[in-house]
Amino acid sequence: MLSITVIIVIITAAVTAYYTYRPNAVRIDKFRQWIGDPASHPDWKLVAGSQCGSAPFLFPTDGFAGFLWGDWMGRGHIHQGIDVFAGTEVGITSVIAAYPGYLTRQPEWKSAVIVRVPNDPLHPGQQIWLYYTHMADQYGNSFISSEFPAGTSDKLIEAGTFLGYQGNYSGDPNNPVGLHLHFSIVEDDGTGKFKNELDIDNTLDPSPYLGLPLNGYENHDQVPLCEVAAE
Ligand SMILES: [Zn+2]
Repeated sequence: MLSITVIIVIITAAVTAYYTYRPNAVRIDKFRQWIGDPASHPDWKLVAGSQCGSAPFLFPTDGFAGFLWGDWMGRGHIHQGIDVFAGTEVGITSVIAAYPGYLTRQPEWKSAVIVRVPNDPLHPGQQIWLYYTHMADQYGNSFISSEFPAGTSDKLIEAGTFLGYQGNYSGDPNNPVGLHLHFSIVEDDGTGKFKNELDIDNTLDPSPYLGLPLNGYENHDQVPLCEVAAE
């Protein structure tokens, strides 16, 4: 039989877990407000090509940064990137390169590209990979730029290069994602290949690279925006 102490410990852990992850409810609420009526929250929108203070990356698309790195996404999944929701139809909101590098699109990739950055601007000497995805419609019709056909390998691009358009591709035509760009920073495995981007342990928080506030309990009720005052 469980002792009272054990029960109290379990309840305390459950309450702590609830309050740790509960703030995501605030994000989900704001996400619903944005998707319901983007025009009513123009101040929530980040703009493609903008750069926040001394942050090294350009913002890669237009929209509301609805979910950040580290957000609890349900069913044991912790978000490994940031999601930017244009609030438009599919296939019209541009995605651009946040940073220069060498672009690869594997032969089977319909919606994603990955860009090798030999020298991480925030951790010099380290190679990282920038992953951009959901650039196809729900049926897998690609919105990726014709400059980067499937099979493209290690092609040099500049910051601001047009990559494609936001889409809603999930892999399941009957269950598309809401239109957005998922952008993540994936670690190198040490042999010049990227690690599995689906595991948060293989990724870095993009927020410092974009000048966005770090995720955390105290920031959960804030809309992620550049905190440096414009000059
Ligand atoms: Zn995402």
